[in-house]
Amino acid sequence: MTAAHGNRACKHLGTRLLAGFAAVIAIYSGLGLLASLRVEGAHLALAAAAGLALSLIIIGATVKRFCRPVNELKNASMAMTQGDLSRRVHIDTRDEIADLARTFNLMADSVQQKIRQLTSLSDIALAISSELDWERVVDIVMEKGMELTDSQAAAIALYDGQLRAFTETYTRGLSDAFVKRMQFRPGGLAEQVLLGDRVVFSDGVHASYKPSKLAHEEGISAFICLPLKVGKRRLGVFYVYSKTAETYGTDEHSVLSILSNQAAIAIQNAQIFKRTQEEAITDGLTGLYNQKYFYTRLNEEIERTCRSRKPLSLIFCDLDKFKAFNDLNGHGLGDRALKDVALIITGSKRSIDVAARYGGEEFAIILPETDSSGAQIIAHRIRRRVADFVFETKSRSGAPVTASIGVASYPDDAAQIKELIDKADWCMYYGKRQGGNRVTVFHEEEDGYSQFPLADLARNELSLDPLQTLAQTVDGLGSLCQRRAESVARLAAEIATGMGLSAEEVYRIRVAGLVHDIGLVSVPLEIMNKREHLTESEWEKIKAHPEVGTAIIQHIASLEGFLPAIRHHHEHYDGAGYPDGLARDRIPLAARIIAVADAYQAMICERPYRKTRSVSQAVRELERGSGSQFDPEVVCIFVNLMKEQEARQF
Ligand code: GH3
Ligand code: MG
Ligand code: MG
Repeated sequence: MTAAHGNRACKHLGTRLLAGFAAVIAIYSGLGLLASLRVEGAHLALAAAAGLALSLIIIGATVKRFCRPVNELKNASMAMTQGDLSRRVHIDTRDEIADLARTFNLMADSVQQKIRQLTSLSDIALAISSELDWERVVDIVMEKGMELTDSQAAAIALYDGQLRAFTETYTRGLSDAFVKRMQFRPGGLAEQVLLGDRVVFSDGVHASYKPSKLAHEEGISAFICLPLKVGKRRLGVFYVYSKTAETYGTDEHSVLSILSNQAAIAIQNAQIFKRTQEEAITDGLTGLYNQKYFYTRLNEEIERTCRSRKPLSLIFCDLDKFKAFNDLNGHGLGDRALKDVALIITGSKRSIDVAARYGGEEFAIILPETDSSGAQIIAHRIRRRVADFVFETKSRSGAPVTASIGVASYPDDAAQIKELIDKADWCMYYGKRQGGNRVTVFHEEEDGYSQFPLADLARNELSLDPLQTLAQTVDGLGSLCQRRAESVARLAAEIATGMGLSAEEVYRIRVAGLVHDIGLVSVPLEIMNKREHLTESEWEKIKAHPEVGTAIIQHIASLEGFLPAIRHHHEHYDGAGYPDGLARDRIPLAARIIAVADAYQAMICERPYRKTRSVSQAVRELERGSGSQFDPEVVCIFVNLMKEQEARQF
């Protein structure tokens, strides 16, 4: 109730009361006059009393008639201030108080509606701010926007700032035919709204803001279009459409403005969340899935396969001699080639297949509901396309890129996930060992797998290649004894096997044996090949090689595990060796084993400064050093080994 209304009501009441009083006084006076004229004494008093009573009745009736609606208004106002918005005033008079009551009721309706909107907006804000699926956010915003403005349809068009275009549209309450023909042209209304940061209503006045012919056919009579922005970031536009009203008012405008601000923040948050989630499962270079996601999906797909009883195939693909491609063309073009291979894979698989970058130049593809023959078609397609593709290289005669591809299927080839991966991986390496650029299908090469059951073995053999090259470099330094490092490695592995070490430890000792002398690259050739006795400073240079070797190898992460053997293979069992003077068990076992194998090989090889010793001389020398220079247990195993070999030869 406004102050003006209140004043008017009071004045009105005052006027009525005055009029009542005047009437009473007039009647009273009239009665008094009559009484003085015609009656005297007691009659006069009676007449006066009757007049008074009558005037009181009239006053009472008048006050009641005018105070009841005022009280009702007052009580309703009090109720409203105490939060009861449902109270309305019922007045059946036809005067200004009735006007006042109607105005009060309208005001109460409006307040109630505003509070409903605010509650609704805060509920929406809560719902969308905790929703991380941004398509769901868009859906809630459209639904609530329609509810709040009594609209029959809505649309949200999302804008790509880089492409400078609307790229995705979401709608509600619109026919497929309309949605198909909806257009967000450059420079069109939606872009004007977004770039101009303003709200546009269809007002029936400006031709440009009238619903289009297409909209009319859809039954749309009015629309309102608002920008969706967070700070300077333009996310899209939000439309609501009415099929009943001719235009929207400021009320709808203000409520939609609040909603679109909340919506923009929620859409942005959900988009960021989605991007972060995608990044967590995507390989940054190729855009394919990463290894982690590959495992997750493979588990899910295998579970699905168990339910559907349909087969699943797995393709493993490794680029052949890709290191050489990098060496020739540089890492930049190497990366480019990896991206191209990823595109070839994506273009060769079906949309339901899941392609991942499994490692550096290794890719894996899950093929749901596909048996081995179906997978072969895709595998051959990838192999052929990679081989035929002209990769960008530094020179025309650049290294060609080819791929070795393995295929295994579930459940025919493997009963478990790990077995399936092992077999596809094994096939890939098997093909590589056959020369590469080929597809190997597991069930066609099963016999080969039973001969080399562990894919790891194939992998290890291959990874020894570069190490062997490294070892040969060292061997080349002392040119009189070719492939010495390889002999030390083989011998050390035999001792380790004789000591009952695991296959893994034997392998590691073999690799350490290959590279243990890598530090000799720092020793000048004239010292290595010197026939005379070495001077003290020349000896110092030679004795530095375990530390130099450690310094070289420590930069190669994959060889980190071999560092102790490289550093300590010249320690003596009694602590008199170098570089750290370690003794007994403190010397790593691999180093103790390599020390024996290395000393033996050194003795039986011709050196520039001395003649070769015979096997038995060398063995005797080792036995002499057992317990001082060498670990007695290692020497013992080695001597037994030699005896066994000798026995086999005779
Ligand atoms: P193989 O035929 O035995 O597969 O030989 P290879 O050289 O392909 O295999 P190896 O495993 O010895 O080397 C893989 C090479 O792949 C090493 C590295 O140069 C290259 N590589 C791995 N990841 C990337 C990468 O992200 N970018 C580039 N440019 N090269 C990579
Ligand atoms: Mg490779
Ligand atoms: Mg590889």
